[in-house]
Amino acid sequence: MNVPFVDLHAQYLRYRTEIDAAIAGVIADTAFIGGERIKNFESNFSNYTEVAHTIACANGTDSLEMILDALGVQAGDEIIVPALSWISTAEVVGTRGATPVFVDIDKTYTIDPELIEERITPRTKGIMPVHLYGCPANMPRIMEIAEKHGLFVIEDCAQAHGARVKQQNIATFGVAASFSFYPGKNLGAYGDAGAVVTDHIELADHIRMIANHGQPKKHDHQIEGRNSRLDTLQAAILNAKLPYLPLWTAERQRNAARYNTLLQASGLTLPFTPEEREHVYHLYVVQTESRTAFMKHLNDHNVGHAVHYPTPMPLMPCYAKFKHASADFPVAAAACARIVSLPMYAELSEEQQQYVADVIQRFNG
Ligand SMILES: *Cc1c(COP(=O)(O)O)cnc(C)c1O
Repeated sequence: MNVPFVDLHAQYLRYRTEIDAAIAGVIADTAFIGGERIKNFESNFSNYTEVAHTIACANGTDSLEMILDALGVQAGDEIIVPALSWISTAEVVGTRGATPVFVDIDKTYTIDPELIEERITPRTKGIMPVHLYGCPANMPRIMEIAEKHGLFVIEDCAQAHGARVKQQNIATFGVAASFSFYPGKNLGAYGDAGAVVTDHIELADHIRMIANHGQPKKHDHQIEGRNSRLDTLQAAILNAKLPYLPLWTAERQRNAARYNTLLQASGLTLPFTPEEREHVYHLYVVQTESRTAFMKHLNDHNVGHAVHYPTPMPLMPCYAKFKHASADFPVAAAACARIVSLPMYAELSEEQQQYVADVIQRFNG
């Protein structure tokens, strides 16, 4: 058997008729920019997230950048980010001229709220938690800290479409939230795509203006903005796929539960999810003490796998100027040396999971 790490083709085959029709419709109309499909996606996505305003844009990184710009983040400001994430989370702070201030994670792989306050300075403007791998960060505690210190919170929801904390949707806690629809994300386009969501109308209008060359209406350039439009083709595909997202989330959760049972005695450290947090398993991440041999074994038996991510962000060459050491982020550094992501997607079959578990069992036995 061969179990790919991700299988976008399986999902395409499952919904081929609808996706092909969506694409053909855009081409037949030769309506490639703007239009009803974009508006529909924005209102459909707002219904899904239960956040009032959605601004569709070109990718998830852009959505983070535009939120920071609209909030006036600039040189001299500090934004608190977790030590472990995809680079975008820190990169967007640095490219605004501001400083990403890194905080270690806890065993959920999300920012450890109890380490945030010691990193707050008079320059701190905000906190940017990431719901990494689909596990929500501890939002009630993060909001409490943010309110106490007068900081804004931006949620990086790129990996966690549909996750909840105490029955409350992620993306509804902070002042604004960012989503990515990169093809492999829980809701994926057929290319790059992203969105900002916010309940604040002024912020929504400002971000919409930034995303469209600073023009609230045509040829009325109030500020220098940028081009971060969502392609209409991508909006059509996302509209076709969005109704299935709750089903896919349930299937990912079922698959995670199956792994939890199958791998119970494997000796691997399995994902830890606190009671009140609903994980949506963008990734199913385990830890092993002998990663090199473990990955070779998976490779030899055609089990797809990956490492998300091999290095904590503060230890990347681009942040060498901060002179951080592993000891500054002990939990993230230890995790980065041991984590492996196993195949995880809605279409993953019970037989495939059984095979993955058998392969892993043989590694230990
Ligand atoms: C994917 C991702 C992003 C960026 O999304 P793009 O659409 O690829 O720009 C940001 N943050 C996290 C945590 C991500 O996983």
